[in-house]
Amino acid sequence: MPLNNPYDVDLLIDNHTLFPYYTVFLDEKDKDYIKRYMALRKGEIYYKIAGILNPLGENSHLRFCEKCNEKSMAKYGELYWHRIHQIRGIYICPIHGTPIYNSSVSLEDNKYRYIAATKENCLVTDIKNYESSLCDKLLIIAKDMAWILNNPVINTKIKEQYRNQLKILKYATANGALRQKDLIGDFEAFWGIEILEKTHSTITKTNNCNWLLEMGWNRKIVTDTLKNILFLRFLGLTPYKLFNEKIEFLPFGKGKYPCLNPVCPKYKKEIIESIKVKENYKTKSPIGYFTCPVCGFSYLRRGPDNGQEDRLRYSRIIDYGGYWMDRLIKISKDHNGAEIARIMGTTHTTVYDYLRKIGKK
Ligand SMILES: [Zn+2]
Ligand SMILES: [Zn+2]
Repeated sequence: MPLNNPYDVDLLIDNHTLFPYYTVFLDEKDKDYIKRYMALRKGEIYYKIAGILNPLGENSHLRFCEKCNEKSMAKYGELYWHRIHQIRGIYICPIHGTPIYNSSVSLEDNKYRYIAATKENCLVTDIKNYESSLCDKLLIIAKDMAWILNNPVINTKIKEQYRNQLKILKYATANGALRQKDLIGDFEAFWGIEILEKTHSTITKTNNCNWLLEMGWNRKIVTDTLKNILFLRFLGLTPYKLFNEKIEFLPFGKGKYPCLNPVCPKYKKEIIESIKVKENYKTKSPIGYFTCPVCGFSYLRRGPDNGQEDRLRYSRIIDYGGYWMDRLIKISKDHNGAEIARIMGTTHTTVYDYLRKIGKK
């Protein structure tokens, strides 16, 4: 490379190879390692990196899109290999929505040689026609690949993002346990077997471990970008949202939450900042624990909430709190049991029980 060249190796790797796409889910250390490897062995840039991450399913030939080639010819008078068309598992040009074809340049035979794209080596010999629903899915995947290649920056914690989205869609319980059968069944139905085979992403069901379950588990990180695309789309996400917008699992909506003690000065006012969420041992549904910082009144609600009106509902009172008790004692002198129960927002029996406990009845 000549001196004072505007390109340095990093820039070349980031802008002219598939490095950003293949390494987007790796940690910085592994990215660095692969970058060093690429910088030192320049000849193998495109496919060696694919080989590191997934030795299966490398492309056999350099590939092209007819329409992109027509455009290059008109604009520059020559052809070049587009990096996007070389991604493993891309079948459709993300710009033109048309099939990508193998050129006659075999990767196996020309590993260490650079062969330029020409009209002669980019000929369509067997026209491909993907059935329309298959084509639609392949195009979604191709467009996501292109987007990630150009925007390889993750600003969120991917694992947390997936785990929260799985909880929102009820493929995981509030504690994060996966509903494996539903997850696998729905995922396969969503993409269809043809896509999963074409992308080398079929699910093995012979044991309790496969890449799809690893996606939802706590520790494991699946770094294969294509599998992440299949997973994020199944979860109703886009790469942009996954990379940039925090996904929160909020079975009881966003805080603050109201105090539900009718004698509290903050009754029905949003005063409770944070809650605890646990899950029901049997049903696995979430249970929220709410405590008012002003009066100490504490309630739980079985969730998830189905709407705003649920925020004023509790399933059980855990503790009436000191404020409620003081008020009970005060009004007990001037009111009968039924009146007290109405004012205190509880039943006659509860009032009677509490008064007896403190020796007032
Ligand atoms: Zn194209
Ligand atoms: Zn309160």
